Amino acid sequence: MKTDYLEQARKVKNIIPDVVKEALRVPEDISVSEWADRSRILNAITSAEPGRWNTSRTPYLQGVMDAFSDPYVEEITVMAASQVGKTEAMCNMLGYLIDQDPGPTLMVLPRSDDAKSVSQNRVFPMIKMSPALRRHLPVLSDDITKLEYHLDRMILYFAGSNSPADLASRPIRYLFLDEVDKYPRFSGREADPIKLASERQKTFWNKKTVKVSTPTTKEGYIFREYERSDKRKFYIPCPHCGKYQILVFAQIKWPSDEKDVEKIKTERLAWYECCHCGKRIEDYQKNYILTRGKWVSDYAEIDKFGNVTGDNIKSRHKGFWINSLYSPWLTWSDIAFEFLRSNNFIELLMNFVNSWLAEPWINKAHETMPEFIKQKICFYPEGLVPDGVMVLTAGVDVQKDHFYLVIRGWGVGEESWLIRACRAESWDDVISILFKTGYKRVSTGEIFNVRLACIDSGYRTDEVYDVCRRWIHLAKPVKGNEHLPIPYRISHIDRNPKGGTLKSGLALYHLDVSHYKDKINRMVHAEPGDPSQWHLFDHPSDEYITQFCSERKIIKINKKTGRSHEEWRLIQQGASNHYLDAEVYAVAGADILKVWQLRKDEIETGNVYIPQPKRKESSWDLMINNQQRWL
Ligand SMILES: [Zn+2]
Repeated sequence: MKTDYLEQARKVKNIIPDVVKEALRVPEDISVSEWADRSRILNAITSAEPGRWNTSRTPYLQGVMDAFSDPYVEEITVMAASQVGKTEAMCNMLGYLIDQDPGPTLMVLPRSDDAKSVSQNRVFPMIKMSPALRRHLPVLSDDITKLEYHLDRMILYFAGSNSPADLASRPIRYLFLDEVDKYPRFSGREADPIKLASERQKTFWNKKTVKVSTPTTKEGYIFREYERSDKRKFYIPCPHCGKYQILVFAQIKWPSDEKDVEKIKTERLAWYECCHCGKRIEDYQKNYILTRGKWVSDYAEIDKFGNVTGDNIKSRHKGFWINSLYSPWLTWSDIAFEFLRSNNFIELLMNFVNSWLAEPWINKAHETMPEFIKQKICFYPEGLVPDGVMVLTAGVDVQKDHFYLVIRGWGVGEESWLIRACRAESWDDVISILFKTGYKRVSTGEIFNVRLACIDSGYRTDEVYDVCRRWIHLAKPVKGNEHLPIPYRISHIDRNPKGGTLKSGLALYHLDVSHYKDKINRMVHAEPGDPSQWHLFDHPSDEYITQFCSERKIIKINKKTGRSHEEWRLIQQGASNHYLDAEVYAVAGADILKVWQLRKDEIETGNVYIPQPKRKESSWDLMINNQQRWL
């Protein structure tokens, strides 16, 4: 009886077609990296190192790839530099699922053309090169088109994020989103392409989504997704002291006196300095440190000896961050060279920060858009003083044959109103607008004069000094600097006959321009209810608006220290920013007068508070007398 049964089973087995047997095949107990080491073959066209895939070449990719074969993980986010092998890791996941755990799959790229190119140049050659994958190709060549592969046990679709029709059709189990930060911004009328694609996974309990990209900004998709994940970083031990750390650009060092940038690259002058012991980690030691690396979530802890505590394994959404310092194909000097080459050009530097350091670029709040600044317009005409203003200051930007002037009114809590913004052609015009014109408050008829004008002395310096000497209590020469330890500092220009400083003479004010631009930016973006509101008069010129919005804040990296800091730069090279400069000087003027001391009760009692200047010689009485001469 038993024999009959076995005989029958054997017969049945023989009549099951191979296709069905293949379909019923259970996945082997194997990870993506094990599968890739066994079955993936790289071709010479797309790979720098053709031949059999070797995970030990890029040990950090093991954790990334194996997250895919972990049944507990649903989402994988990879925020990575461009030369670390992230695309190959994704191809390995794709190869693994085709061979081991098939299911309908969609791969989304920024545009349809990118999708076709990846299908033709990457995925199809990968399938053809590896016997383990080739056996899943269909018999009929019609079953393979550029955007759709009907393989033996699954369908693989490719789509551009710009074609909603391709994203929204059939159900899928696996979703690959490549270069997500390059997806065109969707307009409000259409659906978000990423949402549209992930809607299709709803029916699968064992779905998986892989998102890969170099970052762009903090508002970009990949950075936001990484923040949502368990945020893993790759810790490596120092070959000298054995203490664990992540690789960061600030620790790449090179001889600071070396002026020849090319030489740093060709002679490999850069090294990595261990943040614990300060010893040099050389390029040849990279393989040693990488093979001993560990992925550690921000929610777990790793001490300097590599002991991990906390929950480092269980997470449905694993996020991985890899910068180009981990790449086995780049030396420390390659990275230092790329930085030095890029540092003076915004576009290149942006690319360095995004594609090499895998860090997001500037915070958009540091950029003021013309549409936004127009919301600050109030209904009062240019040249009249609204209620609330207690003091006027002015800023003058000096050009070769003309000037840009801004007059600003100040009230309690540094609330500020633009009173005038204009161009003047001569010094006579400047003096007339600043010191010989009274500005009237509509409600009371009260006349206001400019209490302090800050005039840029970086250009036509002698003329500026002459004017400031003539109007010594009302005008100060100023000079812009980057990053002073204090907002402004004073140096005395005039000397007494013995060569000592003449304290009653002319003083030059050195301004920390970044500080005042930050201040303006804060005031412009003040929350409702915040006292330091920023107002514009009705119908400011387009020129004023454009120039006011001409700069944004970027991350700049110090060549010597490798540390990053933020700096204001023109958005478009060659654009004009004269009105912005004039605003900086007017705001500095308010700071010099200490308008932040203005108090509300003094308006109500009619006792307008007169801020006291720092130095005795600038007597306010004298200044007021001076003004009255012209009224
Ligand atoms: Zn060390």
